[in-house]
Amino acid sequence: MFNQSSYSYTDLLEALAQPCCPVCWLSQRAVAQYIRSLFYEHVNDISLREGIRASLGYCQEHTWALRDASLGNALGISIIYHDILTNILRRLPAGGTGSMDDRPARGGFLRRFASDLQRRAQSFREALMPQAACPACSVRHESAELALGGFARGLKTEQIAQPFPSAHGLCLPHLAQFIPLIDEPRLLDLVLETTRKQLSTLETELAEYIRKNDYRFNKEPWGSEEDAWRRVIGRAAGEKLS
Ligand SMILES: [Zn+2]
Ligand SMILES: [Zn+2]
Repeated sequence: MFNQSSYSYTDLLEALAQPCCPVCWLSQRAVAQYIRSLFYEHVNDISLREGIRASLGYCQEHTWALRDASLGNALGISIIYHDILTNILRRLPAGGTGSMDDRPARGGFLRRFASDLQRRAQSFREALMPQAACPACSVRHESAELALGGFARGLKTEQIAQPFPSAHGLCLPHLAQFIPLIDEPRLLDLVLETTRKQLSTLETELAEYIRKNDYRFNKEPWGSEEDAWRRVIGRAAGEKLS
C-alpha cells in the first residue's frame, strides 16, 4: 500500500525542518498514512486482507499502533483480526486421538507416538508462523529507502545541501544506510563533518549531564544537556515518534 515512487523536495525540506531524524520522520509518517488509509478506505479490500492474513497481522509495535485512537478504529481491528483468527483456527492440526496409558508400551508404539506428537507440534507451530513480513514494517522500510535515495540525490543540489548541515541529522542506523548512497567525495565530507559536529555536541552534553549529577555540581542550572539522554536514544536507535 506504499505506492509513492519518490519524495519531493518539499517533503525532504519539511523532514529536514523536524527536530528528529528526517528519514525516521518520513518513514513513520508513511506508516501513519498507511494505517489511516487501511482503516478508512481499504479494510474491506479482500486482496489487502489476504496479504494481512499471510503476515498474521502486524508486528508488536504496529499492532499496538493500530489501537492508537488517532490511527485505528475498533471495527477495522475487529474485521482484520477476525480474518486472522479464522485462518489460524482453520490451519490448526486436529486434536489427539487418545491416551497411551491403556496401551502396551511397546517400542514401535512409542516411536509412532513421538512422531505423531512431533508432526502435530510442527503443524501447530506452522499455523502460528507468519508467511510474510508485517505490512507496516514493509511500508516503513520502503519509505525509508525512498527517503535515503532522495536525500542522496538532493545533496547534489543547493536546495537540500544548504539546510542539511544545520538540520537535526540522521539517526545512526539510517546514517549507516545513507553513506553507501553518497557518490561524491565532497558530499561524503559534508556528511562526515555534519555527523562529527552533531555527535560531538551530543557527547559533550551527555558528559555535562553526568557531571551535573555529581553532588558537588548539582546546584548548577541545567542547560541544553538537560534532555540529552532522551535525544541520544533516538539518535542511537532511531526515533520513536508518536
Ligand atoms: Zn532515522
Ligand atoms: Zn511492523
